Amino acid sequence: MLSIGIDDTDSSEGMCTTYLVFKLIQFLIKENATIVDYPLLIRLNPNIPWKTRGNGALCIRVKDIDEDRLFMHLKYLIDTYAHVGKRSNPAVVIFSAIDDEVREFSRKALYTLLKRSEGFRLAEKADRVYFKGNGQGLIGAIAAVGSVLNEHTYELLAYRYANNCKRKRILSKEDVIAMDKATYPYTFNNYDYNHNRILLTPHGKDPVFLGIRGEEPNILIRAIKMLKIEEELEGYTIFKSNQGTNAHLTNRIETLKPYTSGYIEGSIEELYAHKGGHTFFSINGIRCAVYEPTGLSAVAQRLVKGDIVRVGGGIRKASKNHPRVLNVEYIQVLKLTDIKLTLNPICSCGKRLKSAGRNKGYKCESCDFKGFKEREEVIVKREDIDERLYIPTPKAHRHLTKPLQRYGLKSKDYPLIDGWYVSNHVKVAGGGFSA
Ligand code: ATP
Repeated sequence: MLSIGIDDTDSSEGMCTTYLVFKLIQFLIKENATIVDYPLLIRLNPNIPWKTRGNGALCIRVKDIDEDRLFMHLKYLIDTYAHVGKRSNPAVVIFSAIDDEVREFSRKALYTLLKRSEGFRLAEKADRVYFKGNGQGLIGAIAAVGSVLNEHTYELLAYRYANNCKRKRILSKEDVIAMDKATYPYTFNNYDYNHNRILLTPHGKDPVFLGIRGEEPNILIRAIKMLKIEEELEGYTIFKSNQGTNAHLTNRIETLKPYTSGYIEGSIEELYAHKGGHTFFSINGIRCAVYEPTGLSAVAQRLVKGDIVRVGGGIRKASKNHPRVLNVEYIQVLKLTDIKLTLNPICSCGKRLKSAGRNKGYKCESCDFKGFKEREEVIVKREDIDERLYIPTPKAHRHLTKPLQRYGLKSKDYPLIDGWYVSNHVKVAGGGFSA
């Protein structure tokens, strides 16, 4: 079996590495290769500084194909489609054997910043390597090949023709909402009900018309058929992915190296709200920033000193004006502390007493009582916050953010089903967009 890894073919001006894989599959089908599983769309550390958008890397595993012809075609695809020179450094690798070192590299690519020299060293283990630019793309390409998914989801990505890529993507909100409701909880992040916004469509000039994410391939095909798409599309592919799994946040942050992702746990030390609606607090001496657009800032403001929390996120590099902070991506309230207030005592008539003046004890406003009594300690109920997980509003989700509805669902593996790949350029069983 050959594992092909590809990364960094796009720029902010266009392209998407998933589209290159869509084109690659056309070739594989024409060559009668055996495609072993859904292509993998692996999201790597979202906190690295040079990603274009979502730090996605791709892998596809195939058998029954001539490796020379395959490699030649991969080079052709990179040369034809990759946006070289626009801050992209495309790379493709083919591995016929994947060892523990490659797997470990892949695991670390999810939550640390890896060195390019490490990528070059591991590339020596590949059967074939092709890259352009500075070789940065090798990191993602190798990481995609070595990835092991403990939990996974699927995404159907539908592609536009090149001459439509600058046009607005048109979809009806009503259709999307109806599809979302009909497929809940087996698709996710279709629509943000807090902000009345469609989440399926990207906004750039890339060839992706829409992406539907969910738990199984079948439901994604059902979902796309529920949408009225006026624009003629080139086709779609279903990918298997670590999106929606929080895979980057499973690492306990030990060192505060910039760009590390993971989580920390501890009790809230100091906490203050900042102008612009952001909230800052510290845990174990680490400053944590909760930004307003995440929708988590309001939750953070209800925390108090002594609450025990786990927070997930990425370490942002210190700048001239800001110290190193952890940008918070979720807050799990583990233990709310009691807020104790000391109040004036209660009078025997039931009314709360007022102070009678300095060192003069208390007086009652409803009966004649005047005198000394012990102050009362009360525990205030924490009604505005619970011991549970809080995640950002869907609009602010990163690709890897695990949506609430996914908690408790178990990922399953599915074989390639009819219609997993549809292209107007090759015939495959079960193709077609119409219902
Ligand atoms: P996409 O648009 O497909 O979602 P992206 O465009 O945001 O992804 P890429 O174009 O893939 O991101 O660029 C990310 C670059 O960073 C690639 O060159 C990749 O090899 C590299 N990279 C990925 N993860 C790491 C990491 N953990 N450490 C260092 N470099 C990384």
